[in-house]
Amino acid sequence: MHPIMLPVDFIDSMRQQMGAEAELLLQALQTEPVTSIRLNSKLDVLTFDCDTDEVPWHVDGYYLSERPQFTLDPLFHAGCYYVQEASSMFIQQVLEQYLDPSSVVLDLCAAPGGKSTLISEYLGSEGLLLSNEVVRQRVFILSENIQKWGNGNTIVTHNTPAEYGERCTNLFDCILVDAPCSGEGMFRKDEQARSEWSPAAVRKCAERQRAILMDVWDALKPGGLIIYSTCTFNTEENEKNVEWMAESLGAEVLPVEYDKSWGITEGTVGYHFYPHRTKGEGFYLCALRKHDEEYKPFSPSASRHSSVRPLTTTNNQYLATLRSWLQHPDDWAIRYTDRFATAYPMRYKELIDSLSSSLTCISTGFGLGEERGRTIAPQHSLSMLKDFHKEAFPNVALTRDQALSYLRTEALNLSGAPLGLLLLTYEGVPLGFAKNVGTRQNNLYPHEWRIRHL
Ligand code: SAM
Repeated sequence: MHPIMLPVDFIDSMRQQMGAEAELLLQALQTEPVTSIRLNSKLDVLTFDCDTDEVPWHVDGYYLSERPQFTLDPLFHAGCYYVQEASSMFIQQVLEQYLDPSSVVLDLCAAPGGKSTLISEYLGSEGLLLSNEVVRQRVFILSENIQKWGNGNTIVTHNTPAEYGERCTNLFDCILVDAPCSGEGMFRKDEQARSEWSPAAVRKCAERQRAILMDVWDALKPGGLIIYSTCTFNTEENEKNVEWMAESLGAEVLPVEYDKSWGITEGTVGYHFYPHRTKGEGFYLCALRKHDEEYKPFSPSASRHSSVRPLTTTNNQYLATLRSWLQHPDDWAIRYTDRFATAYPMRYKELIDSLSSSLTCISTGFGLGEERGRTIAPQHSLSMLKDFHKEAFPNVALTRDQALSYLRTEALNLSGAPLGLLLLTYEGVPLGFAKNVGTRQNNLYPHEWRIRHL
């Protein structure tokens, strides 16, 4: 690795903040970044060729000794693991220590979805996650990653923090604000973060972070948990913002237990991950509790018109088919929007119905099927859902080369496959659907997700 050019003002500010220890940090920033993944419960065994080492603070986290070409691994596209920076997996420890899985959680700054997939895994079938991204272009990758991960407990939205504060007052048991920041912790792998950094940018980020926290604050229940995190080192965006939350918003800072051998550094408030002490990139996290008080519980507002069409008699003819595609059909509410049927958790039906009319929802659950003429065709997201009943379709196991060809949306050659809709699998994991029309097999992999350049 070539030496990287760090901004001079950054070097000075770290020397001021950390004293002699800054030299160790600056040296660590000249070393190779670490590659780590977090396994999905879809995959039972780890299938990497290189050496792996466990991430101590997350049971599904692994360091890889080298960075494989993930794009050429069909299991990557099937959502079997997420390539996630190791330090940020520490959020799991906060969840385990402070949050009941049957909670309603907002991940406010969620794209591309690393922490949302972690939270959705923690909540499992008991909780509900709203995964939000305010920047329009980033919503699509978030939605793709949520679908590939395959838990049906996540709704993807595109709203501002203020819209959440106004429309979802006192709704959430927990809010994660993984704030947009100056990105010092990403310097060794992100050239853009280095080139955009300046003392003024740090100040601007700190102000924006406070505005985000203030805007969303009303959406958190009194007594609720707020997790504030950044991938930067400076105290302006970290400790000072947390102290401001404690003073101005009345939040209580919570201790998080951890093993001393993990190399975590305690700030005046919160926890730092420095790459010279922990194996991973730079990260900061603090958990706080909103003060408890008498409060009016969240009540769904009926003020906005709902565009949701309930199941009609016409659509009902497909209900038995749609239910046969799920392992636990009674756990799901099914509804139509135009020709599309979507499944979402029955236990949160009322809440989701109400939120879908007050928030800008990109997805309110998992696309199950699309009415086409007199039939209903499965949607790709069904094949990603963990509750998908795979045996509802003939399964065709693909080799690695066939799987890659399918993922590039190339023509298929599946000789001997039965006629009709087929579920294509790789190492037992669903990749998506194809349709055998006799003379050829139509590749139904979503065009926008295809492998483009390899
Ligand atoms: N949590 C994500 C993950 O684990 O994959 C990473 C989030 S990234 C650190 C911060 C996110 O905040 C970005 O997706 C960015 O688009 C979004 N963002 C930028 N400005 C924002 C604002 N004013 N309010 C809320 N989110 C914002």
